[in-house]
Amino acid sequence: MDFTLTDEQELIVTGVRGLMESENWDAYFEECDARHEYPERWVKALADLGIDSLMLDEEHGGFGEGLTTLLAVWEELGRLGGPTYVLYQLPGFDQIIENGTPEQVEKIMALRGTGKQMWNAAITEPSAGSDVGSLKTTYTRRDGKIYLNGHKTFITSSLGSPYLVIMARDADNYDVFTEFFVDMSLPGIKVEALDKLGLRMDSCADVYLDNVELTEADIFGTEGNGFQRVVRSFDVERFLVAATNYATALCALEDAAKYANQREQFGEKIFRFQLIQEKFCSMWIEVENMRNMLYRTAWLYDTGQMGNGEAAMCKYYCANAAFRVVDQALQVLGGVGIAGGHRVGRFWRDLRVDRISGGSDEMQILTAGRSILKRYR
Ligand SMILES: Cc1cc2nc3c(=O)[nH]c(=O)nc-3n(C[C@H](O)[C@H](O)[C@H](O)COP(=O)(O)OP(=O)(O)OC[C@H]3O[C@@H](n4cnc5c(N)ncnc54)[C@H](O)[C@@H]3O)c2cc1C
Repeated sequence: MDFTLTDEQELIVTGVRGLMESENWDAYFEECDARHEYPERWVKALADLGIDSLMLDEEHGGFGEGLTTLLAVWEELGRLGGPTYVLYQLPGFDQIIENGTPEQVEKIMALRGTGKQMWNAAITEPSAGSDVGSLKTTYTRRDGKIYLNGHKTFITSSLGSPYLVIMARDADNYDVFTEFFVDMSLPGIKVEALDKLGLRMDSCADVYLDNVELTEADIFGTEGNGFQRVVRSFDVERFLVAATNYATALCALEDAAKYANQREQFGEKIFRFQLIQEKFCSMWIEVENMRNMLYRTAWLYDTGQMGNGEAAMCKYYCANAAFRVVDQALQVLGGVGIAGGHRVGRFWRDLRVDRISGGSDEMQILTAGRSILKRYR
């Protein structure tokens, strides 16, 4: 299979490379990570290049590019140390356009190009993690209004996004799951930050909903269709996590290789030691496997052939393979990686999170396993 980029894709990748080389972004990322701050200035710079509109259709002023182009951009940004995990909202415009009312679409489109956080989905609750169907947040109709009550947890970007799409069930009919487009400044909403192990440039918080007053116009998509909408969005979301994992691992491998080529111990450069060479062999194989899997899956998506098993496999494989690569890179860096403020130490913390968030390893295995077996029925 030929993964050569088109001239247009090359041009876009060259643009983001130029941006990454235009200043010492790593110092900025280090600062944002330490302060648990969203790197808005970097995202704005990407938006200025049009990266936030890559997959947006031309009718809405975007470039109408596919997942392959997005992967090529992600690969370059991640390889050069960019925290692509803060960009998951960028390809999300189609979700809003597909499901939102004209007013909701307008609110999100107004944020395009600003670099600011826009929205995220809030599904998880303290007693409803992998078992999403057991969620307890409810909506109740009263006097022409709708009232939302419940407690969401681990919600990414909820401290910085002006809107959340919140899943709730009808208090009068527990079988009905509906999403609501919620303005986070409404009375009755309380957001409390959680201290995350990694991925610290994006927030993670508990969201408490106490009689949050909404109207029929705040329903996102159609009533009772919440689950179907979310399941459809999983494919791209999981793919993006996998792409971030891969690109981060590539960056770690390159950092470790440069270090191994110059670090001396026992009177020799450490790259001469066979135990170090072995690490690069296994790191390289894992990185190549991730790359091939992701470009093939992006091609499947762009040609309308991707099933949900493919994205689950990408997330499961890349989250684990990338973690192994980063762990080995950290070993090559020795103490510098652990206590020297090196970015690979930060990557190690970041990558561990992705084996849980966005659906745990175990749930990806179950999804993938079922989809493989289905092909032989
Ligand atoms: C950093 C972070 C960001 C997140 N962002 C969001 C967000 O923006 N929006 C949102 O809605 N949610 C978000 N989540 C929630 C995330 O999707 C859940 O954490 C995840 O689905 C797992 O749920 P849980 O943590 O409750 O673990 P549990 O579901 O309690 O699972 C605990 C363990 O049991 C395993 N397990 C559970 N069921 C099975 C089974 N049937 N078979 C085998 N093993 C099983 C799990 O794999 C896991 O290892 C985020 C989580 C994190 C950590």
